[in-house]
Amino acid sequence: MIIVQYIILLTLIYLVLKNKDKSKLKDEKEKCVYCGNRIDSNFLYCPYCQETIKKKCDSCGKLIYSDWRLCPYCEKENNKEESYYGANRNNY
Ligand SMILES: [Zn+2]
Ligand SMILES: [Zn+2]
Repeated sequence: MIIVQYIILLTLIYLVLKNKDKSKLKDEKEKCVYCGNRIDSNFLYCPYCQETIKKKCDSCGKLIYSDWRLCPYCEKENNKEESYYGANRNNY
């Protein structure tokens, strides 16, 4: 009787650990598309290479990935080169 209970307990622990591992791998962490380092999925910028991962859409303000060509929420074009044009500091 005790052995059976022991086995059931072990199985339960095994299942719990297995599920934990899966969920850990699934969300929480994602890879930086630029340098491949593991970063938190909430990060807007990669702390390793300082590239922009996500940014706010100029039009609707929702978070979108910086390499998306347009915002899926409002269909406004995502101007990836914005910072370059914006930082055009009268060099002429
Ligand atoms: Zn990076
Ligand atoms: Zn938008």
